Amino acid sequence: MSKVIICANQKGGVAKTTTTLNLGIGLARLGKKVLLIDNDPQGSLTEALGYQEPDRLETTMAQIMEWVLNEEDFDLEAGILHHEEGVDLMPANIELSGVETSLIGIMSSETVLKDYIALIGAKYDYILIDCSPNLGQLTLNALVAADEVIIPVQAAYLPIKGLEQLLKTISRVKRKMNPKLHIMGILLTMVDYRTNYASEITDVLYSVYGSSIHIFDTSIPMSVRAAETPAMGVSIYKHDAKGKVAAAYEALTEEVANNG
Ligand code: ADP
Ligand code: MG
Repeated sequence: MSKVIICANQKGGVAKTTTTLNLGIGLARLGKKVLLIDNDPQGSLTEALGYQEPDRLETTMAQIMEWVLNEEDFDLEAGILHHEEGVDLMPANIELSGVETSLIGIMSSETVLKDYIALIGAKYDYILIDCSPNLGQLTLNALVAADEVIIPVQAAYLPIKGLEQLLKTISRVKRKMNPKLHIMGILLTMVDYRTNYASEITDVLYSVYGSSIHIFDTSIPMSVRAAETPAMGVSIYKHDAKGKVAAAYEALTEEVANNG
C-alpha cells in the first residue's frame, strides 16, 4: 500500500510546491515509486516539473475528478506524465478550479481524490499531493485522501494564527472523515540564517506545538538557487546539487522515509 502525504497550508508562498517536488524526487532517488499529484488549479507543480503550459495538457486532474465523480471507466494511466527524474505526475491546470466549484453541495464530493488513489495507489510507494493555498473543496479532498500531513511554515514571521485554523480543519477531518489522518510534522522553510527570526520562530513553534506536533529536525534554508529552480523544470538536486537546499531536502527525505 502506498503512503499518501500532503503538503498543506492555506497560506501561499510557504514552499508547499517546492517541498512536494523535492521530497517526491528525493524519495524516487532512494528507489521509491512516487506519484506527485498537482491538486492546485494554478498548476505550479506541473510548471515546476517542466510542463510550461499546463493549460494545453489534455488530460489533467480536472478530467480525472470528473470521471471519478461520474463513476466512469477510464484508462488508469490517463494523464500521468513521466518525469526524467523518476517520478510520475498527475498534472493540473486552471480547469481544476471549475471542477472545485462544481463539487460544492454534491454528495461524496470530498472523497473524489481518495477514490482515485484507491484505483491507482497500488503501483506506488508514495503519493504526494500539492495543495492550493486555501482550505476549500480541493484541500478537503486531499485531507480525506491523506495518511500524513506536512505543514510547511515560512520562517519570516510568526505563523501561529493561520496554523490554528489549519489544525482545526485537520482535526475536524480526522474526527469526521479520515480517522487515520496524522500530522507528520511542521517544516520550517526559507530560513534566512542571517536573521534571528529563524531561531525565535523555532522557539515559539516548540513552546506552542512541541508537545503535540512533531517539528522536523531539518529546516530548509533560503537560497536564490532554490528560487530559480521552478523555471528549470527539474529538482534542486539537478539545478544545484551541491547547494544547501539540496542537502536540506535530502535530509528531510531521510526523515520522511524513516517515518515508518
Ligand atoms: P507555495 O506552494 O506554498 O505557494 P512555493 O513552493 O511555490 O510555495 O514557493 C514560493 C516561492 O518561493 C517560489 O517562487 C519558490 O521558488 C520560492 N522558494 C521556495 N523555497 C525556497 C527557498 N528555500 N529559498 C528561496 N526561495 C524559495
Ligand atoms: Mg504552490
